[in-house]
Amino acid sequence: MATRTAAPSRIPTPVVARVSLAAWRHNFALLKAAAPQSRFLAVIKANAYGHGAIEAARALTGADAFGVARLGEGVELRVAGVTRPIVLMEGVFSSEELALALRYELDLVVHDETQVVMLEKSFKVTDPGFNAPRVVWLKLDTGMSRLGFALDRARNVAERLRILPMVGELRVMTHFACADEPESAMTCEQLELFDSAVKETTSFSNSGNFLASCHASLANSAAILQFPSTHRDWVRAGIALYGSSPIVGRSAESLGLKPVMTLSSRVIALRELPLGQSVGYGASWRTARRSRIATVAGGYADGLSRHLRTGAPVLVGGRLAPLVGRVSMDMITVDVTDLDDVHVGSEVVLWGEGLPIDEVAAAAGTIAYQLLCAVTHRVAFQYL
Ligand SMILES: *Cc1c(COP(=O)(O)O)cnc(C)c1O
Repeated sequence: MATRTAAPSRIPTPVVARVSLAAWRHNFALLKAAAPQSRFLAVIKANAYGHGAIEAARALTGADAFGVARLGEGVELRVAGVTRPIVLMEGVFSSEELALALRYELDLVVHDETQVVMLEKSFKVTDPGFNAPRVVWLKLDTGMSRLGFALDRARNVAERLRILPMVGELRVMTHFACADEPESAMTCEQLELFDSAVKETTSFSNSGNFLASCHASLANSAAILQFPSTHRDWVRAGIALYGSSPIVGRSAESLGLKPVMTLSSRVIALRELPLGQSVGYGASWRTARRSRIATVAGGYADGLSRHLRTGAPVLVGGRLAPLVGRVSMDMITVDVTDLDDVHVGSEVVLWGEGLPIDEVAAAAGTIAYQLLCAVTHRVAFQYL
């Protein structure tokens, strides 16, 4: 019994996510070179799009700051010893969160009146670390209609924020809705609205133009690569850092990006099936000839999309083969009739090197962001 009460040091598992630190740094360098004048905020929210936030912060040593979505994500990085600026890109949602954000020295985005009031009220709090000045990003809504102040309120909110003792430096930002579309008219409109709102904001106390002198940030990955006029003082790169294309209709490879995560598994069973035999749940797919079907470990409990359609690409032993039938919780089935040399134990790549995640996402009717974020704890991560 004693031998069973302690966990073994390593439990083998078939589904493995290999994360290439070299590819990470390559993508970072490529994006940095695309916006050489701008400071670089590496967006590592959602556990670095499923890649591991702490590992991302360690790999992306050239980043000037990191962006996360939730307080817990920022605290996790601080506890792991990350000392660079960390921006809470949705700000805080309660005064309890505000106190923790200030204690862990997280920079705040302020996008809503309730957050301004929260900051104003925190004057009264006597926690000694509380009023250590932070960078505060004022977020403006230029058309995304999700977060941010209406443009005609920018001046008023900026004046209220800049006098608060916890606001060490005010910066201004907005977010694009359509930067992934080449030649997007909306991106140009949002840029013009942003510029006019920032320029029209003149300070009472200074002769200069206060908001116009603040650092500005607009560009996500897509805008970094195709709208240089949006680069300004800070760029905010997410998806392209991970090697997926941020631009509709462009492959990651054509942009010079390299896949960071390769999700791989193994063939765990192989069978010869006659014509007309159904495969998988719902018997939704049937062989149209004598077929060899490989059963591969890896299903929606590992993070594969159940929306992957028959015909979705899978690499078996380095060669393309179509997924057939439904994705199960722990397995998929792949038609390997046209491949020789497939055996139980053959390596299977579900996305990554040799199989762009953007193609897999398209076959599931979704985007790479969602596939990456969905990889579950059951998958073993290896950092190379
Ligand atoms: C997620 C996010 C980004 C990064 O977007 P990508 O398309 O992944 O480059 C940038 N800015 C904000 C505010 C975000 O929430």
